[in-house]
Amino acid sequence: MNPSLHLLIIGNGCAGTETAFAARQNGWSGPITLVGEEPLSPYHRPPLSKAYLTGQASAESLSLRGAMTYDKEQITSLSGRRALHIDRTHRSVTLCDGSLLTYDKLVLAMGGRPRPLPLAEQFHGHVDNFHYLRTHADADAIRSNFGAGRNLVIIGGGYIGLEVAAAAVKSHMNVIVLETAPRVLARVTAPEVAAFYENVHRKAGIDIRTSEQIERLECSADGKRIIAVLCANGVRLPADLVVAGIGLLPNSELASEAGLLVEDGIVVDAELRTSDKAIMAIGDCARHYSHIYERSVRIESVPNALEQARKAAAILCEKPPRPDAAPWFWSDQYDLSLKMVGLSQGYDQLVMRGSASQRSFSAFYLLGNRVLAVDTVNRPLEFNLSKQLIIDRHWVDPSQLANDDIPLKQLLSPTT
Ligand SMILES: Cc1cc2nc3c(=O)[nH]c(=O)nc-3n(C[C@H](O)[C@H](O)[C@H](O)COP(=O)(O)OP(=O)(O)OC[C@H]3O[C@@H](n4cnc5c(N)ncnc54)[C@H](O)[C@@H]3O)c2cc1C
Repeated sequence: MNPSLHLLIIGNGCAGTETAFAARQNGWSGPITLVGEEPLSPYHRPPLSKAYLTGQASAESLSLRGAMTYDKEQITSLSGRRALHIDRTHRSVTLCDGSLLTYDKLVLAMGGRPRPLPLAEQFHGHVDNFHYLRTHADADAIRSNFGAGRNLVIIGGGYIGLEVAAAAVKSHMNVIVLETAPRVLARVTAPEVAAFYENVHRKAGIDIRTSEQIERLECSADGKRIIAVLCANGVRLPADLVVAGIGLLPNSELASEAGLLVEDGIVVDAELRTSDKAIMAIGDCARHYSHIYERSVRIESVPNALEQARKAAAILCEKPPRPDAAPWFWSDQYDLSLKMVGLSQGYDQLVMRGSASQRSFSAFYLLGNRVLAVDTVNRPLEFNLSKQLIIDRHWVDPSQLANDDIPLKQLLSPTT
């Protein structure tokens, strides 16, 4: 590799940081610069709604890499600096401190930001007890409002909302989850799996209210705190803390302003290249074509971010990338390890295997006899086998699949 080529990476979440280290490992010998707008050095986001919120994980344990490793690998890490503008003609990026960085290859790994709740726009950033959860700073702000006997209202029954609920109930808070859809996890799981999770949370003491519309937030007279959430049905819910988790918007404005193709994410080809071949995009901010599902997808998960980072690094270093893996995601709530692999949209049959009452089961989303996706709860072996099931587009017999006495491995063998 030409040792003078500069690799510039915008966004120092797990996708950007992994790209920097993987590029070095793959033989990129020129300078590598990693730029991130957050003041902290790169950190893991998943514990923010889990162990960090309950105080079981320390701030130090969240670091993605030890401070020394950046120097060791000769990676220049610039935190607290937002990239403002890409000049594609001169191959340069302007940062918020006025500095200009030129590049030979640019990787955009800018993640996303919480989808704003329209009725909270006047409050966010002005009151100290209304928060979204995306950054370390958000988690600290939420944690500082935790306390036994306090009222927490969570708006949104997706993964983040439910994980925050599970963490708050451990801190003996009174927790209400408000969801506009008729069930929680509506965008990502089947009704059967959602019903299992609703049941678990209710048993833990959480008040889950579905098909609930929110009318407005009530503020204290001094304008410093939200004091209640008012529902469209007239119910007033007193609140010491309000957390909203209603989805994510990809950070793609830098790319669209530079004239790159953006459609709910920065559009990239099979080699993660944008409409400008010197620029790649990866992780939560990128939309790629999935050969497994034969459509374009944007995936929000750590495994996808890492996978794409390693693929981008291999391609940048002119090495053959590993074949694409099935997308997967995990969520930890109480003693439940949920691992989901594949994308379930379009399934026409759900096959349940195992026992929900024993908190150990898998849900298989089938289209005909093809498995599109699998949700596994406390079933690590089935999760691992399911990855292959999806990649191989293996055909299965639904009645055999439902029979928990037949090991899943047996159904994968060529003789069945
Ligand atoms: C609370 C929480 C819990 C989660 N739990 C799980 C889980 O259990 N399992 C799972 O698989 N996934 C989980 N996720 C999702 C996962 O964290 C994301 O999918 C992953 O972080 C995506 O990585 P990324 O590098 O693409 O983006 P990010 O992690 O968002 O990193 C992008 C970085 O780029 C920075 N940036 C953006 N624009 C600019 C700019 N113009 N200039 C400089 N810097 C910029 C951002 O500030 C950010 O730091 C969770 C997310 C959150 C918030």
